[in-house]
Amino acid sequence: MNIHEYQAKTVLAKFGVPVPKGGVAYTPAEAEAVAKQLGGALWVVKAQIHAGGRGKGGGVKLAKTTDEVSALTKEMIGMTLITHQTGPEGREVKRVYIEEGSDIAKELYLSAVVDRHSSAITFMASQDGGMDIEEVAASHPERIINVTVDPIAGFQPFHARKLAFGLQLAPELHKEFYAFVENMYKAFVATDASQVEINPLVVTKQNKIVALDAKFNFDDNALFRHPDIAEMRDPDEEDPLERQAAKFELAYIKMDGNIGCMVNGAGLAMATMDIIKLYGSEPANFLDVGGGATKEKVTEAFKLILSDPNVEGVLVNIFGGIMRCDIIAEGIIAAAKEVNLNVPLVVRLEGTNVELGKEILAKSGLPIQSGDNLGDAAQKIVAAVKKLAA
Ligand code: GDP
Ligand code: MG
Repeated sequence: MNIHEYQAKTVLAKFGVPVPKGGVAYTPAEAEAVAKQLGGALWVVKAQIHAGGRGKGGGVKLAKTTDEVSALTKEMIGMTLITHQTGPEGREVKRVYIEEGSDIAKELYLSAVVDRHSSAITFMASQDGGMDIEEVAASHPERIINVTVDPIAGFQPFHARKLAFGLQLAPELHKEFYAFVENMYKAFVATDASQVEINPLVVTKQNKIVALDAKFNFDDNALFRHPDIAEMRDPDEEDPLERQAAKFELAYIKMDGNIGCMVNGAGLAMATMDIIKLYGSEPANFLDVGGGATKEKVTEAFKLILSDPNVEGVLVNIFGGIMRCDIIAEGIIAAAKEVNLNVPLVVRLEGTNVELGKEILAKSGLPIQSGDNLGDAAQKIVAAVKKLAA
């Protein structure tokens, strides 16, 4: 799960990581009030969407008066912000964050992720902060340093020193920086984060180290341990179909193709998507109904798949291991009737009672094609959809 920048900064601040003072606002009047309360002579108005690159897209602006704060907020709220991370459709801005302006001397990059290679939390740091870190990684990989933290021994002072030297921080900044990274690590572990990214981490002209931007990603499977973080979820930032799927514990990711897939098991789902591509079409989604798929789950899964207007055919690929194929076949038939299925459906069943399952499908009177194996099923659904299009 992702949260907004201003929420991420609240989490960091709780763990002693320095962030600029600020407040969230939903209207120009609220924004002006926040700015007045903050005081000072420079403010930053920042669009809050779950995507980076806002600066380049016009979602981060400096204001010299509180009137300007109000005017910029008026411009930003309701605008569709397009950045390299939002895709061409962009995101509507519904709230802004008003922050005290910082005097930037240097912009750095610092992040921590659960790194699958080392199976440990790994820090990444670079002197090239503020800009596209992906670009730096591609063109100047040597400008990014990695520091892996052993999960048993935990964070040690030498980790902080390595990062500080790698960033070529001035000696008088080291002490402050050590505390910064250590607290960031504490925040990471305590919240079951999977990623924390500070870009830019700035050194101000007053020689302070501050997180000027902050991005948090949390492990969904651990959210139950953090009701305060789960509460920060912003449904406006999530795909409505994916939200619906989460309610029924279906792992669903919408994609751009036209063949809906319903599969049990993540590996089988990936293989199914691959084979659809192999035979010349594109999957409309990833959908894992899980091991114990009940009739209700199968029906919900069908509804999800068909609520995507791009879907022109459905491929069901289920391995009946614990669940028997005849039960699955009955579930599919019930679901197909309930949702008034009006696109071609190919079903490939394998496993316990497969013959009985196929027989039930054949006798249903519904226009369901059976696939003998994964390749056969994929070819059949691709052909059926292409025939409709022709
Ligand atoms: P992003 O573009 O979505 O990553 O948003 P950021 O929060 O990283 O802001 C983008 C850029 O705006 C930063 O890299 C800074 O250069 C600039 N910026 C943000 N806050 C301030 C500030 O307080 N003072 C100044 N001078 N620039 C800022
Ligand atoms: Mg940034």
